[in-house]
Amino acid sequence: MALILLLRKFRICTIRRLADNNWFIRKIIMFGFIKNSLLQLIMHSGTVQAVNFAHSISGCHRIIILAYHRINDNTCDNMTVCCSEFDRQIKFIADNYPVLSLGEVLACLQQRRRLARPSVVVTFDDGYRDVLINAIPVLKKYNLPATFFVNTEFVGSDKQFYHDLRFGINFDKLNWDELKYMNTMGFEIGSHGVGHHRLTSLSDEQVLKEMAESKRILVEKKIAKRLFFAPPFGRREDDSSKARAFAKKAGYECYLTAYGGYNSFNSDPFSLKRVVIGPGMNFLAFRACLQGIAIKKPYFIAKIKNA
Ligand SMILES: [Zn+2]
Repeated sequence: MALILLLRKFRICTIRRLADNNWFIRKIIMFGFIKNSLLQLIMHSGTVQAVNFAHSISGCHRIIILAYHRINDNTCDNMTVCCSEFDRQIKFIADNYPVLSLGEVLACLQQRRRLARPSVVVTFDDGYRDVLINAIPVLKKYNLPATFFVNTEFVGSDKQFYHDLRFGINFDKLNWDELKYMNTMGFEIGSHGVGHHRLTSLSDEQVLKEMAESKRILVEKKIAKRLFFAPPFGRREDDSSKARAFAKKAGYECYLTAYGGYNSFNSDPFSLKRVVIGPGMNFLAFRACLQGIAIKKPYFIAKIKNA
């Protein structure tokens, strides 16, 4: 009887506490603090340094491919990194890592050439216009290459991505002239498909058409000297050997996913892994990610901001 009364009291207290939003946020922040402390501990425990040393002995250094979407100070969501944070991240990369273009990485993979150090590649998905305004000046400032994956149906259009409908904002997309301008500055343009469709929701013919048609347009517009493909979403559940085989058949040189993970000189160009960078990835987590400590829930802090 006493136990039942105790449990009932605990349940009432818990419900009251859950109703108190501040208590809930405090718990989340406390969890973030523990998570950050653990990260600090791992990063300074010598484990990461030992793994990196083993990589340097074997010449099997990480190739870290980062995937960004929007860079601006107006939206706070899981696809946007604010301008100052982006500058901080890019400066850190420029100061600490060789930054390669995707084309340079493919050359390494084709020649099975071992890298002297862990290296980074910067990519952007979806072709939002804010990358031209906010990301390109930063990349130029630090003289870094980058690849931009665009959906040919969305270039210069008012069409909204399905994932943006919830905001009620029509984000500007890059147009063909802007992409050409970026390309003349040395930035690579790749295909993210025609529309922004989950490939696993399409028939084989439609998948092949998405790849072949977007390739045809990029070649026709003379902005893709090399042919790279990054499927929309790019999640583990969307990935399939069939889609990768289709990309190869359509004439692409590589296929990039977006569910985390690292690459090395002996990676398959049709199974390149990318780490998505969002606002939830604080600077410590960003540095940890570059050192090979994958963060499974990069959007954690963003949820706090929106709470
Ligand atoms: Zn996308």
